[in-house]
Amino acid sequence: MQILNGNEVSQQLRNQIKTEVESLIIQGKKRPHLAAILVGNDGASMTYVSAKAKDCKEVGFDSTVLHFDENITEIELLKQVDSINNNPDIDGLIVQLPLPKHINEKKITEAINYRKDVDGFHPMNVGYMFKGLPCYLPATPFGIIKLLEYYQIETSGKHCVVIGRSDIVGKPASILMLQKNCTVSICHSKTKNMHHFTSTADIIIAAVGIPEFLKADMVKPGCIIIDVGITRVEDATSKSGYRLKGDVDFASCAEVAEAITPVPGGVGPMTRVGLLLNTLHAAKN
Ligand code: NAP
Repeated sequence: MQILNGNEVSQQLRNQIKTEVESLIIQGKKRPHLAAILVGNDGASMTYVSAKAKDCKEVGFDSTVLHFDENITEIELLKQVDSINNNPDIDGLIVQLPLPKHINEKKITEAINYRKDVDGFHPMNVGYMFKGLPCYLPATPFGIIKLLEYYQIETSGKHCVVIGRSDIVGKPASILMLQKNCTVSICHSKTKNMHHFTSTADIIIAAVGIPEFLKADMVKPGCIIIDVGITRVEDATSKSGYRLKGDVDFASCAEVAEAITPVPGGVGPMTRVGLLLNTLHAAKN
């Protein structure tokens, strides 16, 4: 059994990005610049945004965090997005979700110029992705594809089962696996007889949000398992008081899988590097 090590692969990609940034600077070009909009003081959102800013610093990007009070109006936030759209120094813009209830997330996401939409959530980028045209891919599915490519995992003709159909993970992951010539099944909460699908899968991408949802008796021996899930579960023995769990029962599945991603250290770091790759691409454009 092989561990698909997202920490190691993402570090290699970060090193490559850093080298590319240094070469851009030597050529007299501008440093890639990512802007992040954060509204309110949600602990998890603040942690995610500061991690993204730290990632930028590590590879030599500039980053700007625009942190607004949770009472900011939708009109004011739209003005801020517009101002970043028109700022030539900023290459990529992300809006940390969720936003407060009085702000329409769809309106804000769609107000971002799709050429700066490095999260790949704008309908223009979704449409380009659907057609297999150059675009910004959502960071998590992008990171998964990079991980599969790094380990040279054969996808052509394989049966890939994606569990979950969210706009940011499940749906785009299934489109990208289709483009890699997999036969794709998408499962969700209304799927009947989940076992029938998972037990015939060569590759499983689990993006459910239920800790240890996928058990060894649901999978075919020799399959490849990509665990997207991250759920905090209470753990009195840990210093933080919680532990991160994936959607896969790692201990049992690792016994039957040919290759598997751990949580943490699998898809998470690949997601972070996906955003950096998109930002570099935006700067070069
Ligand atoms: P989401 O929007 O909540 O979607 C969950 C999906 O799972 C839905 O499509 C839902 O089906 C399906 N589902 C729920 N219960 C199910 C069941 N019993 N059987 C089969 N399918 C079921 O979540 P998400 O944003 O895709 O994220 C999924 C997980 O990945 C979460 O743990 C999240 O924290 C994690 N995540 C990790 C990363 C990373 O970087 N590693 C990035 C993004 C997300 P319906 O559509 O029918 O409701």
